[in-house]
Amino acid sequence: MIVRDPRYETTVVRLDQYPIAGYPEIAFAGRSNVGKSSIVNSLTNRKNLAKIGATPGKTTEIIYFNIDDKLFFVDLPGYGFASVSKSQQRSWGSIVEGYLGTRNELKMIIMMVDIRHKPSNDDQMMYEWLKGTGLPHVVIASKLDKIPRSQIKARVDEIKKVLAVPEDVKVIPYSAINKAGVEELWQIIDEIVTI
Ligand code: GDP
Repeated sequence: MIVRDPRYETTVVRLDQYPIAGYPEIAFAGRSNVGKSSIVNSLTNRKNLAKIGATPGKTTEIIYFNIDDKLFFVDLPGYGFASVSKSQQRSWGSIVEGYLGTRNELKMIIMMVDIRHKPSNDDQMMYEWLKGTGLPHVVIASKLDKIPRSQIKARVDEIKKVLAVPEDVKVIPYSAINKAGVEELWQIIDEIVTI
């Protein structure tokens, strides 16, 4: 898809605030700082659509981007902040679980992990949740430009192993800086959205 008019739509903190347009939704999940804002910007060819490095600690906001009145990109709240209270963790859990478990418009989930690191316990928990939805999904290994080519295969294999990624699920090395992976990911999104 060639994106022409991507824009911020709304921020949701409660179930009754979800948009009613009914467009298919593609959700991005991952720990804070993994590159969720950057992937939204690189997929839409915009520098500042999503705020890079946005307020850490905002653990309960779901941010909607309207992609040409055809679909919504949905930035789920990040996890893995060092200084988050138990009650904040609980509200993160209830909003993410509520969204993943009940949102009919959700058609695909993009799970993001940093290609440089072994997926954390939080990543594993998030991924188990996400697999539990039974929805189509892909795993994005972000920040590809930060490792040498010779390490890519080993890093991807470790991600597959630690997260127990099913055979038929793609793990795509991705860079928001040099746009590696953008076309492959758009192809997958296009297929889902046109079904
Ligand atoms: P978010 O918290 O998941 O939304 O992460 P951001 O998109 O705000 O990115 C966190 C930091 O990682 C920022 O400093 C970004 O510039 C950087 N970053 C994100 N994606 C990439 C990438 O593909 N390559 C490199 N080198 N840096 C990236």
